[in-house]
Amino acid sequence: MTALDPVDLTARLIRCPSVTPEEGGALQLLEAELSAAGFACTRVDRNGIPNLFARWGARGANRAFGFNGHTDVVPVGDPADWSRDPFGGEIVDGVLWGRGATDMKSGVAAFVTAAVDFVRETPPDGAIVITVTGDEEGVGIDGTAAILDWMAANGERMDVCLVGEPTCPERLGDMIKIGRRGSMTGRIVAHGVQGHSAYPHRAKNPLTALVRLLDRLAGHELDAGTAHFDPSTLAITTIDTGNPATNVIPAKARATVNIRFNDAHSSASLSDWLRAEAARVTEETAVRFDLDISVSGESFLTPPGAFVDLVAGAVEAETGILPALSTTGGTSDARFVKDHCPVVEFGLVGKTMHKVDERVEVAQIEALKAIYARILRDYFR
Ligand SMILES: [Zn+2]
Repeated sequence: MTALDPVDLTARLIRCPSVTPEEGGALQLLEAELSAAGFACTRVDRNGIPNLFARWGARGANRAFGFNGHTDVVPVGDPADWSRDPFGGEIVDGVLWGRGATDMKSGVAAFVTAAVDFVRETPPDGAIVITVTGDEEGVGIDGTAAILDWMAANGERMDVCLVGEPTCPERLGDMIKIGRRGSMTGRIVAHGVQGHSAYPHRAKNPLTALVRLLDRLAGHELDAGTAHFDPSTLAITTIDTGNPATNVIPAKARATVNIRFNDAHSSASLSDWLRAEAARVTEETAVRFDLDISVSGESFLTPPGAFVDLVAGAVEAETGILPALSTTGGTSDARFVKDHCPVVEFGLVGKTMHKVDERVEVAQIEALKAIYARILRDYFR
């Protein structure tokens, strides 16, 4: 049996136009490859979102190694801006072009081919679980979360999980993500009393109160960073009142703040803080605030230990680079997986992800497959 080619599989996946939430044939292709290699595959679609669960080995195996990824891609923008067909999967001078070339059809192809070759050549004592969603780039509520819900209901599990998102800033091997900051958004509405700007004592200016509140929020040091995290940050992302008049104090003003927070906080503790600060300004100004808070994800950390060492060791053995253990960047589906088992993220250099002319050197895909293969060998040794 010849080894499964990760570059060819990436190219075939790129030719599936799987812009969120379209399946585009991508999960069908993976299901066919995995089924042929003896994986038990189940589509666990929810609310129209396509998802794939695949397991090699027994459900109750003594240990189960998991991979997670996504086949959906962000829109291409104007195809005329691309040098090559974004869904062509063309290889030119050792570079594979197309939407999803780095984020993350290559990562999915690398772990699928590594897993298929591994179970064919050296069937392990244990199970390999592959979870791939068609909605990571969208809202994500029926993506990996749906697969994990289905797994819990059906007695399926992973003991550890590797997410194959692009993680390396410069060179393949330079960074592993062992956690992520949390993210939450507060939408603030300040309610005052409208009036003539020449008689401000007869009005209640919501802007003055809102600016005071925002200044306190933005000026507050949330923390100085923790052992594995940068300091938490709060950014004011918009302030709106839409008042065209120069002689009217408006009744209402709005603002939005986005907080990226580390493991010194939770969304609940930060919500309490936002409400307390708003209440203080209300006491001082009599301007009332409504706060609408939405949470994208809590912060989490897979502390350095056996699993992190296993992944870092395999990366170093294959690339010669000792990877940095990082918690920087935006959110990923690891935010769901972390409630199921320890999770680490490692994948390609992501310089062209979400951009026009997304592309990847084919040698990088082959190197990534070799790293994933080594991680499997080391895990099941
Ligand atoms: Zn991605």
